[in-house]
Amino acid sequence: MTTGTIEHALRELVLANRILAREGVIDDFGHVSVRSPADPNRYFLSRSRSPEIVDLADIMEFTLEGEAIDGQGRRPYAERALHGAIYMARRDVNAVTHHHARAVLPFTVTDVPLKPLFHMASVIGQEVPLWDSQPEFGDTNMLVDDLAKGHSLAKALGKNPTALLRGHGAVCVGASLREAVFVSIYMKENAELVLAARHLGELQYLTPGEIGQTGDMLRSQLAQSRSWEYRVARAGFRGL
Ligand SMILES: [Zn+2]
Repeated sequence: MTTGTIEHALRELVLANRILAREGVIDDFGHVSVRSPADPNRYFLSRSRSPEIVDLADIMEFTLEGEAIDGQGRRPYAERALHGAIYMARRDVNAVTHHHARAVLPFTVTDVPLKPLFHMASVIGQEVPLWDSQPEFGDTNMLVDDLAKGHSLAKALGKNPTALLRGHGAVCVGASLREAVFVSIYMKENAELVLAARHLGELQYLTPGEIGQTGDMLRSQLAQSRSWEYRVARAGFRGL
């Protein structure tokens, strides 16, 4: 493991923060993490700061239990347990985003399903499970702020790429940081499309077979690199 690999991962994490802000997936709240390429039992996540202004100096390293390796007095996000618990449960996951994209919120509080409506959104998975903190934890501040809630959420997520949090938002995961960002953007856009199309008539979602084949294609290196380059440029970092 070279220092360059870590530096690359941290730089991409800063870009991921800026991209998700630019695309309106996260705003003053929400966050994105990446598993350490040097140690699968650690992950990187910004200190508690709005993603649009996250810089390299804000990135902190955590154990999967959420302990900072070298905190330097920086205050972490309250909801880091969400990241650690998912990394513990899912060895295939190397990046996690958590957002409150407003278009997704209606699907967390109604029985209208959020399923892929267009090909680019096949990556959100065939079914998007809903995690509700109320039955297990009662009235809370709605945050996933300890490992008990993190484990409960990870269980609801199961093997899926996305999950909804009732009255709160969503989590998206990926085998890579680029993939988690890709899934997050298309989850939001798919939600917008479902909200628009349902007023026009009955919805026809992608079939499970279409979701499988299209998802495999979109998770390929070629598609991921192409999308990432575009998002980097749109976020204002073209050529950097
Ligand atoms: Zn949240």
